[in-house]
Amino acid sequence: MEAAISTQHITIPLSADTPGAAYTVSYYHFIPDRKGTHPRIFLQAGLHADEQPGTLVLHYLLDMLEQADKSRQLNAEFIVFPMVNPIGMAQIYNHHHSGRFDFSTGLNFNRNWPDLAECILNNEPDILDKLSENEHENKDKILSSVRRWIARQTPITALETLRFEIIKIAIECDVVLDLHCDVDATNHIYIVPQLMPEYQDLANWMGSRVTLTAENSGGGSFDEVWPRLWIDLQRLCPDKPVPPPILSATLEYRGLIDVEETLNKLDAENLMGFFITRGFINSKMDKAAPIMPPALPFNATQIIKAPFSGLVCYHVTLGQRVDEGELIASILLLDGPDAFRKKIPVYAGTSGIVFSMMLQKYIWKGAPLAKIAGSKPLSNRKGVLLEA
Ligand SMILES: [Zn+2]
Repeated sequence: MEAAISTQHITIPLSADTPGAAYTVSYYHFIPDRKGTHPRIFLQAGLHADEQPGTLVLHYLLDMLEQADKSRQLNAEFIVFPMVNPIGMAQIYNHHHSGRFDFSTGLNFNRNWPDLAECILNNEPDILDKLSENEHENKDKILSSVRRWIARQTPITALETLRFEIIKIAIECDVVLDLHCDVDATNHIYIVPQLMPEYQDLANWMGSRVTLTAENSGGGSFDEVWPRLWIDLQRLCPDKPVPPPILSATLEYRGLIDVEETLNKLDAENLMGFFITRGFINSKMDKAAPIMPPALPFNATQIIKAPFSGLVCYHVTLGQRVDEGELIASILLLDGPDAFRKKIPVYAGTSGIVFSMMLQKYIWKGAPLAKIAGSKPLSNRKGVLLEA
């Protein structure tokens, strides 16, 4: 891409953990050609390195941002990491790419991100006493405290270093969007409940069939880091003006195989629709976003786990509305006296939309088989809501 004067393509070198190896991660930084302060928008794709649709969406978005930049239409800075996890991209064994868990530690790349409120309170226990009656001052004080905490960290491994490089940049941003995909799925969003329905327009522009809210899904996922800093501090300090949570969300662009030029270009155009209608880009859209369903609590989503190992045959399709007790799939048994003769039915445990299914049809006990977004919280959905 031929970069405009105000666009930078920045490469961060990362030492690897083994002799003779190294990584780099790069991002594009678009800076409005005008004086004054402007919001900063952060986008990344491929944190789970085997989820590629987001990278192609951001490829098209880069073209569109470059065009907006050349036309001097940018009202915001944009920081774009189209492939944020080079460590996961290198994890190939026996012709198979595995980008969800770090080979070295077993850690899910999108779990165990730091709880920033807890971090700064441990680092500076008196930080809340220093807050004033001025919200802007408080924002500066809290962000400065996060910066001091970051400066004290001493990452050792490539993964730790990568995380702190990302945290350093994302903490300075006003919007943080993390592009993922499911296995075989419709578009959906994970977001904290405090941001909905304020950002229903994001769900509309994305065409999100299912938008799921959880304040703390229990896994320390990347998108929760940024709004939860403010939510937690507001709660700990109710008598001082603490800024509201920033917009952050995980955008799930369908499934693993949905890397497709026409589809992902349209996804990028729709993201531009969100940025334009929010005033981050000074342009006009010649279409309106469709109205998508309102958000649902994530603890109302049933993740159906396979009760037996076998071959799964689905009786539903993606996006289908089902009723509690409806047949979802049958599993052909592969061992025991009824092996290869008997199929065991699996029924919906709630009413809602089937938004995620598996691509591989061999399934083992306890493996997720489908997800149904219901509206009634389920009694067994407490604690860690996300999958491993
Ligand atoms: Zn993911």
